[in-house]
Amino acid sequence: TPPAERYEYQAEVSRLMDLIVNSLYSNKEVFLRELISNASDALDKLRFLSVTQPDLLKGGVDLDIRIQTDKENGIVTITDTGIGMTQQELVDCLGTIAQSGTAKFLKALKDSKDAGGDNNLIGQFGVGFYSAFLVCDRVVVSTKSPKSDKQYVWEGEANASSYTIREETDPEKLLPRGTCLTLHLKRDDKGFAHPERIQKLVKNYSQFVSFPIYTWQEKGFTKEVEVDEDPAETKKDGQDEQPEKKKKTKTVVEKYWDWELTNETQPIWLRNPKEVTTEEYNEFYKKTFNEYLDPLASSHFTTEGEVEFRSILYVPAIAPMGKDDIVNPKTKNIRLYVKRVFISDDFDGELFPRYLSFVKGVVDSNDLPLNVSREILQESRIVRIMRKRLVRKAFDMILGISMSENKDDYDKFWENFGKHLKLGCIEDRENHKRIAPLLRFFSSQSVDELISLDEYVENMKPEQKDIYYMAADSVTSARNTPFLERLLEKDLEVLFLVDPIDEVAIQNLKAYKEKNFVDISKEDLDLGDKNEEKDKEIKQEFGQTCDWIKKRLGDKVASVQISNRLSSSPCVLVSGKFGWSANMERLMKAQTA
Ligand code: ADP
Ligand code: MG
Repeated sequence: TPPAERYEYQAEVSRLMDLIVNSLYSNKEVFLRELISNASDALDKLRFLSVTQPDLLKGGVDLDIRIQTDKENGIVTITDTGIGMTQQELVDCLGTIAQSGTAKFLKALKDSKDAGGDNNLIGQFGVGFYSAFLVCDRVVVSTKSPKSDKQYVWEGEANASSYTIREETDPEKLLPRGTCLTLHLKRDDKGFAHPERIQKLVKNYSQFVSFPIYTWQEKGFTKEVEVDEDPAETKKDGQDEQPEKKKKTKTVVEKYWDWELTNETQPIWLRNPKEVTTEEYNEFYKKTFNEYLDPLASSHFTTEGEVEFRSILYVPAIAPMGKDDIVNPKTKNIRLYVKRVFISDDFDGELFPRYLSFVKGVVDSNDLPLNVSREILQESRIVRIMRKRLVRKAFDMILGISMSENKDDYDKFWENFGKHLKLGCIEDRENHKRIAPLLRFFSSQSVDELISLDEYVENMKPEQKDIYYMAADSVTSARNTPFLERLLEKDLEVLFLVDPIDEVAIQNLKAYKEKNFVDISKEDLDLGDKNEEKDKEIKQEFGQTCDWIKKRLGDKVASVQISNRLSSSPCVLVSGKFGWSANMERLMKAQTA
C-alpha cells in the first residue's frame, strides 16, 4: 500500500482552528451539531443525485447516520451513508476553506470585532468540520465516494499545521459508501463518549435532521428465571426433616447493545400547524438557517387546487450582515423540496422577486418533477403559480407584523427591510396594493415617528384631494424648506421623503386609495384656494418685477412667476412641472460624480 501523504493546511485553516478553539471553548458540544449537519448534507447530496443516477444507491444501503461511543477509549464514531469524498475532495474540503458555513463564521467574527465585538455570537454560527478539534486530539475521516473505486483516510491532529491522506487498507473499515469519522477525544473531553450524553445532544441539536440518526445504546429486558429456593428460608419452627427442594421464579435484567433511533424524522412542515408550537417553528428556523435570533414572524401553510405545496416562511429579525446583499436575489434563503427530497436552495428570483429575497423558508411540492433543473424552474407554470402564492403569503405575514400589538416588531422590520419594500414599489407594479399599506414615512406632523399612508389619509382635511410630499436629504432640511410654509399654515400634512429611494418609489405608486401623490416643490402646486381676481391684481402689480428678475438671471432659471404658495419667504426656487425635483437632481449628480 502506498504510504500516507502529508499536506499543509491552507493558512486560513490554521487561523480558523485557533479561532474556533479560542472562542468556543465554553461551548464545545457544538462539534456534534456540526458533524451531524455535515453527514445530513452528504445524505441530501446523495439523495438528490440519485434521482438522475439511481446507480448511486446500489448496494441498497439505507440513508442514515449512526453514532457509536467507546467509553473506555474515549472514542466517538459518526458514520453516514452519504455522498462521501474523493481524495481530491478531501484536500479541497478539509484542507481549505472555501465553504459557506465557515466563510459566514469568519465574516461574523470580523463584523462583531469591527462592531466592538460580542464574541458570544460566534457560538451560534455554523463553524464546520474543524469544530471537531474543540474536543479531539485526533480526527480520522475514512470516506468512500461513488465516484472513486478507492476509500481514503484523512487524518489530522489538534494544533498541527498539516494532515495526511492515505488509502484505507483495513478490510473491517471498508464502507459501501459514505463517511466514517473517528473522533479521539481529548483527555478532559472523554465524557462525550458516554452513550447517554450523545443521545441527549443528538436530541437537542438534531431534532430537525430529516434522516434517521441511530445511537448505540445499552438496553435491557427483564426475564423471569427459575431459581432454587434457599433451603434456610423454608426451614420453619424447628422442623428438621429434609425439606422438599422448592423452585422459585426471579426477575433478572438481561443487558445488550443495539442501535436506537434518536431523532424525529417527520419534517416539521408536514405536521399539522395546529400541533406545532411557536418555539418549534423558531427552533427549526434557527437550526436550518444558522440564525441566532428568533424570526419576526412565521407562516405555515398548505395550498391546494391547481398546484399543491406545503411551506413554512419566515421574516428574519435582522437583515444579513454587510451592505452588498440588499438586493442580491442569490441568497440561500428558500430551500426547495420535491416530495421531501431536498432539491436546491440556489435560486435566482424564481420563487421570490429580488426585493423579497430576504424571506426565508422551506417549500415542498408534490407537483414538480424530482429531477427539476434550473431551466425547468424558470419556465415552469407550476413555479409561477407557486411564486404568486408565496409572495402573497409573505405579504400577509408582513402585514401581520405591522398589525401586531408589539409595535417594536414592525419598527425592527422597517429598519431592516423597509428599503426592500420601496424597491418593490419600483419593480413590482402588480403588488402595489400590497406594498403601499406597509410603507412608512416621516411627515410635517410626525417628525419623530414614522406614519403609514393610512394614517396620513385619515388625517387628511375634508377638502384635501392629494397626498403631499416633499423630498429632502433629512427631516430637518425638509422642515425648513419654504415650500412648506403655506401648507403648514393651512395645517396640511406633508410626507417627508428622506431616503434617496423614497421619491422614485412614491412616483411609481402614483396614488394611494385614489389620492394622487403631489410633490409640493413642483411649479403648479394647487392648494385649491385660488382667488382669480386677486391673482390678476398681483400679476399686474409685480409683472414688471418678474420680467426684470428673469432678465438678470437669464438662462439660470426657466421662468420667474408670481406664486401664492409662500407666506413669509419672499421667493423660492421650484422645479418645473416635468423637470427633476431638486432632490432627484442631487441624486443624479451623486451618481454621475
Ligand atoms: P460546510 O458544511 O459549511 O460546507 P464544513 O467545514 O462543515 O463546512 O465542511 C466542509 C466540507 O467538507 C463540506 O462542504 C463537505 O464538502 C465536506 N464534508 C464534511 N463532512 C462530510 C461528510 N460527512 N460527507 C461528505 N462530505 C463532507
Ligand atoms: Mg458543515
